[in-house]
Amino acid sequence: MRCDHCSHDVPDGVFCTRCGAHQGTTEEIGNAKTREHRYAAHPGEHVAQPSVFTTLFPHLGHHKIHEFRWAFTAGLAGILVLYLTGLITAAILVAAFLVPVLYLIYLYEAQVYRDEPAIVLGFTIGGGIIVGIVLTLFERIIYNPFQYNTNVFGSAGINVGGLLIVGLLLPVVQEVVKPLPAIFLPNRKDFPETVDGLVFGVAAGLGFSLAQALIGFSSVLTGLPAHTEPGNWIYVLTTLAVFQPLLQGSATGMIVATIWRYQRGRLAGREIGGIVMAVIAHIAFSAGTQLMQETSVNPLFILIWQAAIVGALLIYIRYVLHHALLEEAAHMGYAETVCPSCHMHIVASGFCPNCGMALTAAPNAVKRARRPRVESAPDVAETK
Ligand SMILES: [Zn+2]
Ligand SMILES: [Zn+2]
Repeated sequence: MRCDHCSHDVPDGVFCTRCGAHQGTTEEIGNAKTREHRYAAHPGEHVAQPSVFTTLFPHLGHHKIHEFRWAFTAGLAGILVLYLTGLITAAILVAAFLVPVLYLIYLYEAQVYRDEPAIVLGFTIGGGIIVGIVLTLFERIIYNPFQYNTNVFGSAGINVGGLLIVGLLLPVVQEVVKPLPAIFLPNRKDFPETVDGLVFGVAAGLGFSLAQALIGFSSVLTGLPAHTEPGNWIYVLTTLAVFQPLLQGSATGMIVATIWRYQRGRLAGREIGGIVMAVIAHIAFSAGTQLMQETSVNPLFILIWQAAIVGALLIYIRYVLHHALLEEAAHMGYAETVCPSCHMHIVASGFCPNCGMALTAAPNAVKRARRPRVESAPDVAETK
């Protein structure tokens, strides 16, 4: 079969295995070449679906994604139980560690680091933690929210200076500093794909988020008795367990993915827009949260605001990664493998001919299990 989009002779299939384009009728699916109804890392979803796990944990197949969703839900349920029983300090600790620990498990599960776990984990999660400790301690010197809160207590006005520091200066500085550990990864030439850059960036961002949470709440952790009245802590805990790590992880993931794209010489408006989007999202998240806290808005609105920003950022990451996966699928030669997304035995090059998954986003074990085919491509039929 000859693909209408890349003009290569390819095995029969719903998707072209070399360029990933959707074959056949294009009436109801929009642009067949960019096929945005079929996200290249998880073809069961549209590109514009703000899904946390399929976006930030791109190397996981269907079943594994469900395991991670369950683990995350169980962690949140655990935090809720600790909150309801008044064990606030324990709840804060679980909230701070939940997403970073899940990500560490993911990195092992997908073996994103290939043969170099120590170097990769050290320069991503470890580097993020160190940067987080240094920067958060430094931030404490120029701005201490606890000391500051007692100063303005009783006055209804908004402190513009504090808002500029927390809502503008700190987000920009953090977005400049957080990608550094991943950029200094010594063997980064071994990980050329944009999806690798995304994962390393998310890992560094989550390491940073962990350090920031522990230092930020250090006075609460040491000052609060182990058992306290639950009160309004549930809102803070939700931000700490969900939105803060997701924002820090996605923003840095987006920026490091762009740096990886730049190294491949493929920097376009879409990627530059990603960096702008990451910084603006972080500013909006921090400034909006600070402003609403100072004006005593219902804390539920703060969570809705944070969720909306994280959702928008996730969609932009998928948009950039989808196009990166479509463009970066080099012809790897035809090989037999099992698609991690649809679990079909396939003979494929860059994309699963059945579901359209970009095989560069497959777990490393799947990539290793590829058995090269020597027959000429057009004779190879998809084995079902
Ligand atoms: Zn094609
Ligand atoms: Zn498939």
